[in-house]
Amino acid sequence: MYQNILLAVDFSKASTCVAQRAMQLAPEGSQLTVLHVAEYLPMLDYSGDPMAMTPLAIDEDLLMEDAKQSLQRFVDKHLQGVEVVQQVKMGIPKLDILQTVEKQNIDLLVIGSHGRHGLARLLGSTAAAVINDCPCDILAVRINPDNS
Ligand code: AMP
Repeated sequence: MYQNILLAVDFSKASTCVAQRAMQLAPEGSQLTVLHVAEYLPMLDYSGDPMAMTPLAIDEDLLMEDAKQSLQRFVDKHLQGVEVVQQVKMGIPKLDILQTVEKQNIDLLVIGSHGRHGLARLLGSTAAAVINDCPCDILAVRINPDNS
């Protein structure tokens, strides 16, 4: 029985289906953590360093706050009645998902086969990227890329 489950959500349409699967799989007494990674790629200068000031500079605190509110809304709507731990990180989804799995001793990762970055192939880029390096079992919930 899985005891420590991580559900990765990107708020795409398909996330609802992925969340339902995680709920069905989480046995009573297990811990279900829902993770969203807020993606922010700073503009880089010619040497590859983040530009200190750009006209398009993004307020990271605002981005985090917005992501936290979106996750709370998602949990209220799609994970009603389930006790979950909510986590928001800022970074690169595939890296932060793997890091969370390792640091938090996750024993099952539930992820969509396709989401926002998904192309019409077997796995979307995040699922494909984590599958090789993930130290625990993974459930890649099959999503039709046209519906993701
Ligand atoms: P994609 O690589 O966009 O096709 O996404 C496939 C799956 O990876 C999604 O269904 C989510 O489970 C997960 N995922 C993608 N982006 C994120 C993100 N920013 N935060 C958390 N999970 C994500």
